[in-house]
Amino acid sequence: MICSLAKSMPRYSVLGHLDDVHQALLITRPALQHLGRHRQSTPWATEAGGQLFGTINAAQVCVIEASGPYAGDERSRYRYRSNPAAAQRAIDDRHGKGLLYLGEWHTHAEDHPSASDLDDDAMDRLISSSQLNSDSLLMMIVGRARGAAGLAVWCVSGKNMRQWSLSESSESILVSK
Ligand SMILES: [Zn+2]
Repeated sequence: MICSLAKSMPRYSVLGHLDDVHQALLITRPALQHLGRHRQSTPWATEAGGQLFGTINAAQVCVIEASGPYAGDERSRYRYRSNPAAAQRAIDDRHGKGLLYLGEWHTHAEDHPSASDLDDDAMDRLISSSQLNSDSLLMMIVGRARGAAGLAVWCVSGKNMRQWSLSESSESILVSK
């Protein structure tokens, strides 16, 4: 058991960059481990998803933890929607631990994920309905390929979506608060 847990912990973090933006994105190994467990690697697997939590400073947006999926979510092969009450409980719980709500993640049954029209609409609704202290959110899609190639992450603010360029880093990186 311990052995299989250790094996599933990725040996890398994922770094993200946007052109002309100094702030970098860091997705930590424990967050990647959680996301990796929900990859749609079988033909019958339904979409999974949840929320992203971490810290933000001038230099870095750091994804420390991913939560979900939850009982009561809407899930099918090509659709995911978090149970709103469960998502809110997760946000309140992480807030108590000093972690900010950073955005949403869900899986796609494709190797290298891209956003669907449904995803764009969902993110618009989310941005306009939430009372955030930051005016932008992350949207992450977890595909079937392993590593950075199987991830797609956008920075969404208003109608503006920008996709982070992702790479893997095997160096141990300090998580700064
Ligand atoms: Zn989607």
